[in-house]
Amino acid sequence: MKLKALNGFKDILPDETGLWCQVESKARGLLERFHFSEIRLPVLEKTELFARSIGATTDIVEKEMYTFVDKQVTMRPEATASLMRAFIQHNLQAQKPIQRLFTIGPMFRHERPQRGRLRQFHQMDVEVLGSANPRIDAELMAMGALLFSELGIAVSLELNSLGCPVCRPSYRKRLLEFIHSRLDNLCSDCKRRSTTNPLRVLDCKKPPCREQVNDAPSILEHLCADCDEHFARVQKHLLELNIEFSLNKFMVRGLDYYVRTTFEFVTGELGAQSAVCAGGRYDGLIEALGGGKTPGIGFALGLERLVLLLQLGDERPAKENTIDLFLAGLGEAASDYCFKLMHELRSSGIRADMDLDIKSLKSQMKQADKAGAAHVLIIGEQELEEHKAILRDMATKEQQRVAMDAAVIGKAVERESRSMA
Ligand SMILES: [Zn+2]
Ligand SMILES: [Zn+2]
Repeated sequence: MKLKALNGFKDILPDETGLWCQVESKARGLLERFHFSEIRLPVLEKTELFARSIGATTDIVEKEMYTFVDKQVTMRPEATASLMRAFIQHNLQAQKPIQRLFTIGPMFRHERPQRGRLRQFHQMDVEVLGSANPRIDAELMAMGALLFSELGIAVSLELNSLGCPVCRPSYRKRLLEFIHSRLDNLCSDCKRRSTTNPLRVLDCKKPPCREQVNDAPSILEHLCADCDEHFARVQKHLLELNIEFSLNKFMVRGLDYYVRTTFEFVTGELGAQSAVCAGGRYDGLIEALGGGKTPGIGFALGLERLVLLLQLGDERPAKENTIDLFLAGLGEAASDYCFKLMHELRSSGIRADMDLDIKSLKSQMKQADKAGAAHVLIIGEQELEEHKAILRDMATKEQQRVAMDAAVIGKAVERESRSMA
């Protein structure tokens, strides 16, 4: 039997990694402009961390985690919990009262795999810890909007408030009354949720449930004075920054710790309207995990979906040269010379490659072309004798004779590739 990757686990092949790097480097550049620092976190954590932070009754904790039962450890299903754990463990707040952090990496959830949704998937996770100021909420959403616009992806921003521990209980009561009046018409998942996590009934994707909750009471009409003011200011700041958004009273979070601002960037390009980025405020989380009272807000971006959207939109950049120079040696002695020269060139910063076996010039030129080489250096017996090699520019087809010296050749291929850029 042939060995294959697990269902829901995917190799990202060399053809695709360029696009991944492009997305990541654009995102990193943007985060730098917004004064964020990177944090790198372990993939494996104590199971308890996720039960406490995400909530024991969520779908993630109930059925989607990869847990080693004997060790009581779990492959992280998201990054926020680990980031909070690290924030508390290393007392990061003592270094800087407001921490702007991001992390990029794989997450693991045992879900039904579908297009753009895998069991090992990648997220960029962005968090700001230490400020409850609504400006931060607006700033994060503005940053998200800027990232999508710089990537050339059309999205719309949806916004809601989830209230807080002061106002949510009374809303929850009203919602429960409403759900109980419609219980017979809801799906079995929602019937279960009505006792464990009634807010989740609001974002059930099944059409009969959607129809039922259409006239459910809105949290926005039940916010306490503080939440109401916070939400009004978030919207005011978004308008100041010219960020378009719409209110979506059905948007809730699968994660229990979210309060107040919650938002999603959604797109219709992947079939049904779906989120490519989801985030919100979680002011009580750090305290719940044993840290000090620290407000926080963040979002997670699904990189698989982002890459898929770029592939759909054909935003793929023109194929660039992947190496500066291909060295073609004709015969054993020339090939030996090329091998040594290649190492010198690579040491000086030139991207170079060659065929390790002895091949015909034709076959080597073919390889150079396939490798996307900007230049080819040809060395045969005569070139060895005269200590002059032939340097061919693959774009213009022009050839020149150059001294067989790493510094000279390095300069020639480097200068030309720079001036072309
Ligand atoms: Zn409130
Ligand atoms: Zn339902």
